[in-house]
Amino acid sequence: MAGYRDNLDVLRRAFPQPISDQEHDAWFVFSVLRALDRVDSMKSQRPMLGEPREVDFAQATKARMAEDMSSVEAVSRELVDHLAGMFIWGHPRSQVNVINPSCIPGILGTLLPAIYNPNLCSEEASRGVAFAEAEAISMTAALMGYDPDRSGGIFTFGGTGTLLYAIRLGIEKAVPGTMQDGLRGEQPLVVCSEQAHYATKTAASWLGLGASSVVKIPSAPNNEIRTCLLESELRRLLKEGKKIACIVATMGTTDAFGLDNLEQMHQLRDDLVREFSLDYVPHLHADAVIGWAWSVFRDYDFTQNALQFPDRTLRALAGANRRIRHLHLADSIGVDYHKTGFAPYISSAFFVKSAEDLKMLSRDQSTTPYLFQSGDYNPGRFTLETSRSGCGPMSALGSLLLLGKNGLRTLLGHLVTMAETLRNRLTAHPAISVMNADNFGPVTLFRVYPDNVDTFEFPKLEQTNANYAAQLKEYNEYNRKVFRIVHAEALKGEGIVISMTDRFRETEYGHPVVALKSYIMSPFSDQQYVQSVVESIDRARRQVQ
Ligand SMILES: *Cc1c(COP(=O)(O)O)cnc(C)c1O
Repeated sequence: MAGYRDNLDVLRRAFPQPISDQEHDAWFVFSVLRALDRVDSMKSQRPMLGEPREVDFAQATKARMAEDMSSVEAVSRELVDHLAGMFIWGHPRSQVNVINPSCIPGILGTLLPAIYNPNLCSEEASRGVAFAEAEAISMTAALMGYDPDRSGGIFTFGGTGTLLYAIRLGIEKAVPGTMQDGLRGEQPLVVCSEQAHYATKTAASWLGLGASSVVKIPSAPNNEIRTCLLESELRRLLKEGKKIACIVATMGTTDAFGLDNLEQMHQLRDDLVREFSLDYVPHLHADAVIGWAWSVFRDYDFTQNALQFPDRTLRALAGANRRIRHLHLADSIGVDYHKTGFAPYISSAFFVKSAEDLKMLSRDQSTTPYLFQSGDYNPGRFTLETSRSGCGPMSALGSLLLLGKNGLRTLLGHLVTMAETLRNRLTAHPAISVMNADNFGPVTLFRVYPDNVDTFEFPKLEQTNANYAAQLKEYNEYNRKVFRIVHAEALKGEGIVISMTDRFRETEYGHPVVALKSYIMSPFSDQQYVQSVVESIDRARRQVQ
């Protein structure tokens, strides 16, 4: 057996050289290149890498750490093999979910920190990468209409993390002192629409409020919160003496791209504070992890239309902007660059309108707030995490720098154009009904029916009339069958990969409605692939019948 000194010599070659060694530096780059080359050889016409395959998790229990060292080359092969069967989100035949393909600067933003391993816990350990975080935060804050000199923000572990921050702040506002003393029997509430992401409940549970402290308000057919019901419910709760920790506005629902009326919610919140003479202001959070990117249209001149979007696209973009332009009214905002900013996972940030708010989360209440201009950049004093990766901020920055406003407008405009084309085709089909016709994003929900169904009348009947519960159930099953066939075909590289949602909403009598879902996120999407969604569904319908 080799002595440890021999091993050490071998292992040193497996690290980037700390002191320039041109030969070895080249070999490192070459190793990356070889890995990428291997992945590229797994590409085909199919929207996935390599062959479709079932993952056998029973095999994973057999994994053990080896006795001996391996080589960079061998491990590289193993790692690349693990990508087999992955969908290629950027493939034009891929319309699966709100998963964006990463642009190359976004990828570099993950690679570079991986090599030099900055830790955003402190400025000392991250330097210019901490600056990248501050830059990405300021750029995005200004984009959304916050004043970067007064607002603050930090990157965190996903959209779920942004909700955790928001609700935590809200608790502290409604019941001051809980950071130190805990809830002590208080149970302030979180209020959101029934279309809000389940992460709202996750955050409430993990913060000790319990999922049952999340009050859900019904949504309108266009998937936005019914503001009048929000008003009556808030009034009722406040009359009962309940405290409201946080009101969550969902700015881009996950399944349908529904956009809550933040302007009205903000007005309502302020009115109730006055009416009930509250000694705190219920925190208003905008869960804009999907919708934030549409902020690039805040200052787009829709009449000039310099980018020459088609009329229908223009209308859809203006429809989204009508709601998104009010983001700055929220006390805090959640942003996922990894959803609609073309950055890789995890790249998410939490924004507060007033940086002072972050002080409430500080581990040491006596210290000053950490405004960026103060030159005292120590987010580690208030972040939930201790170590924080530089990958999120560097990826976000890479993507923002590459795209600029016009680049992001172009990409979003293209995705919406493709979605509009798809909607046209689906609407023209006698057996298909689009379920979110009044939403303006890249996602289309639709239901497919057997031949004899009147798709002009029936979708409304099954939604509103409990007498049709049995048919609703039958057609839910029908949609599942169609989905399975479309999916199997897509895996063979022939059709389009779409997805299915088991409950995009409930009927008025409380039953789940299944829908097929096309989420167009690829810059490579194009007319012919949109057409093949309809063709693939026709083939599936013939098989089912
Ligand atoms: C995806 C999503 C979340 C959760 O975000 P992650 O980044 O997946 O943690 C929260 N809210 C909405 C509206 C979402 O779509």
